[in-house]
Amino acid sequence: MKAAVYRGPHNIKLEEAPEPEVKSSSVLVHFGAGSICGTDMHFYRGDWRWMRKGMIIGHDAWGTREDTGERVVMVPIVNCGHCYFCLRGLPTYCVRGKFYGLTRDGFFAESKAMLPRSLIPIPEGMSNEEAAVVEPVALALRVINYMKPNLGDWVTIIGQGAIGLLMTQVAQLKGCRVIAVDLEDYRLELSQKYGADVVINAKNEDVAKTVRKLTKIGSDLVIEAAGNRATVEQTPYLVRKAGKVALVGESKGLLNLEDADEASFFTIYISPVEYPSAVELIARKLVDVKGLITHRFKFDEFEKALQTVDKPGEKALKAIIVTQ
Ligand SMILES: [Zn+2]
Ligand SMILES: [Zn+2]
Repeated sequence: MKAAVYRGPHNIKLEEAPEPEVKSSSVLVHFGAGSICGTDMHFYRGDWRWMRKGMIIGHDAWGTREDTGERVVMVPIVNCGHCYFCLRGLPTYCVRGKFYGLTRDGFFAESKAMLPRSLIPIPEGMSNEEAAVVEPVALALRVINYMKPNLGDWVTIIGQGAIGLLMTQVAQLKGCRVIAVDLEDYRLELSQKYGADVVINAKNEDVAKTVRKLTKIGSDLVIEAAGNRATVEQTPYLVRKAGKVALVGESKGLLNLEDADEASFFTIYISPVEYPSAVELIARKLVDVKGLITHRFKFDEFEKALQTVDKPGEKALKAIIVTQ
């Protein structure tokens, strides 16, 4: 079968790979469609180099079950069920957790052997394209749920890429007032479309000043989803006393905590727990992923897809890969 194999920076290509071994505990899933994630691009660009060479990449995809013919979303994280964290109901932190497309062979392959418990049936009404973009929705849910916002809370979301835009949508659903921050007007237009109350282009405006002016005391919640040092270092100036700051992207930077009295700062990543609700919210049209899909490629055009997403001029939000 064909699969997208990581051989190093700028070297992820379709190759002939061995057919997956299907054990009695697993079922075969044939690739339907998937999307390229910022994480895949970090490996492609060589920002991150810890992926094992020879690994199949891709962690956001759906496929068709060989045994039942059902369309299913594949959950990329598998927990063991009996370690310290699993036994305490915290599968996210499983010490033996596997992550397909990062620490184990991923989903950009013609077929994949999966445990049935990692497969979520795709509701009728949910299109093949929508089902290709579930992971960032699960991440947005994970972050917002973890922060437990109150109705009417100010949430400042720095970075309005695909993940930031989904956080804007989810925060809005939770009854928050959203301040969306980015450097690109085309993204901020989408933030507005998705219900952001205020948009700030950080190229033209002092973000901290505007946030203070709007909120008087600082933002109740701050989410850093741009992933760079400058935006990480800005967070203490945006959060109110006893507020919360989620560092979702890169968390490099030196925080000056002088202005952040008793505020909580934490890093947060993806979790398997929110996948079923992510599928549900997309199917019920409460969260929109269709509007984030800017590029479509066939499975055979995988390399072209990476090259295209890599060009800033392409303004890619989500690129999807489809079988035909
Ligand atoms: Zn991802
Ligand atoms: Zn475990």
